[in-house]
Amino acid sequence: MTKELKQIRVRIAPSPTGYLHIGTARSALFNYLFAKKNKGKFILRIEDTDLERSDKKFEKDIIDNLKWLGIEWDEFYRQSERIETYAKYLEKLLNEGEAYRCFCPQKQIDGGVPQIYSGKCRDLSDEEIKKNLAEGKKSIIRFKSPIKKVAFKDLIRGKVEFDSSLIGDFSIAKDITTPLYNFAVVIDDFEMEISHVIRGEDHLSNTPKQILLEEALNFPQPQFGHLPLILGPDRSKLSKRHGATSVTEYRKEGYLPEAIINFMAFLGWNPGGEKEIYSMEELIEDFSLDKVQKGGAIFNIQRLNYLNGVYIRQKSIEELAELCRLYLPKADKEDLEKAVSLYQDRLKKLSEIAELTDFLFKDVLEYDKELLKWKDMTDGEMKKVLDNLNKILCDISEKEWKKENLEKILMPEAERMEDRGTLLWPLRVALTGKKASAGPFEVAEALGKKRTLKRIQNAKLEI
Ligand code: GLU
Repeated sequence: MTKELKQIRVRIAPSPTGYLHIGTARSALFNYLFAKKNKGKFILRIEDTDLERSDKKFEKDIIDNLKWLGIEWDEFYRQSERIETYAKYLEKLLNEGEAYRCFCPQKQIDGGVPQIYSGKCRDLSDEEIKKNLAEGKKSIIRFKSPIKKVAFKDLIRGKVEFDSSLIGDFSIAKDITTPLYNFAVVIDDFEMEISHVIRGEDHLSNTPKQILLEEALNFPQPQFGHLPLILGPDRSKLSKRHGATSVTEYRKEGYLPEAIINFMAFLGWNPGGEKEIYSMEELIEDFSLDKVQKGGAIFNIQRLNYLNGVYIRQKSIEELAELCRLYLPKADKEDLEKAVSLYQDRLKKLSEIAELTDFLFKDVLEYDKELLKWKDMTDGEMKKVLDNLNKILCDISEKEWKKENLEKILMPEAERMEDRGTLLWPLRVALTGKKASAGPFEVAEALGKKRTLKRIQNAKLEI
């Protein structure tokens, strides 16, 4: 029975058994965009009925990181607070004979190879059940699956059909106060008036079970849409093997929420056209489930790095300095701003700032003598170049110590040489100690005159 519900109401229903996964965050985003686009409601429901595996620290992580991403919910529920509701419906199914207690040894209630239950306890008499319960025999509650074809129209995948004989009498609760996933979801989706269930494709095989329960309980059926799996570059399901899978890890590495949102939106959705930079508002504007693909979505870290760079460059120096504070805890505001000005153009993720700019925060650098030399320079040539640099730079006043002036004065000198690297390379390495860095003039400005001259002197001592 498919009934049109008036308002669009969607949900994300994470289980707090791990840190907020990129796949869950992507599902949250698609639900959020769909709700906002259609003036509907977006609900966060914490599915914590599995008390052994659920942990408050994961619930906190999920909540914090959804907020950080800007995916805000209109309503919040926690399944562990709704046990009475599930118990009421379990009783109803038991009383109506749609569910029954099963006393068979349960090796594989969850996890393991799915087995079709034999149906042995289906027709136990009331006396037998009473006796078993009185003897304290362990039981679970199973749903009496009707044998039929379960078909539904998936919003993304089109017509999907399952044969319920391959599902069998599946378990719906460990006991009256411990409902299992498939059951609790159905009750909540009904009670919370969920109109569309949009979730990962890994739940596709749960959908027929949920539809059978909805039919038995006379609930209207929500519309289902299963989002494509997120795959690693080798096209296998994204896992730790491929790198970080939780939002919190990306956050710690210094990816911006805007970049992660923009990146996740394209994990399975593509509006067509050239545009690739989307704010949340623009995503809401353009989002539609029609443009969600069926095939797996490849997680391409280079693309995330690229997008992160784009958003890093949109920040003001003050904002970027504030964002980088975490990675340079000892730097004051002025130094932070210096550091980020040098690298705003090149940063891919905020955490890189520490290593890239460590030379700004050290008094003395350690040099690799060979690195100081440009191509096949001799020691003698090297000394001469450093002396020359020292002489020229000494004459520039503190007031004029700006990268434009430094460039104006040093460039002609460099051009006079056969190869400008002969002057500029040793200068840059003397100032940073590094093979790659920002340009020598910007670095010299950031260091100031005194420290620049000191470093040239120190470099000379290496020769
Ligand atoms: N608790 C389930 C999960 O975390 C929810 C799946 C669903 O959206 O129905 O995967």
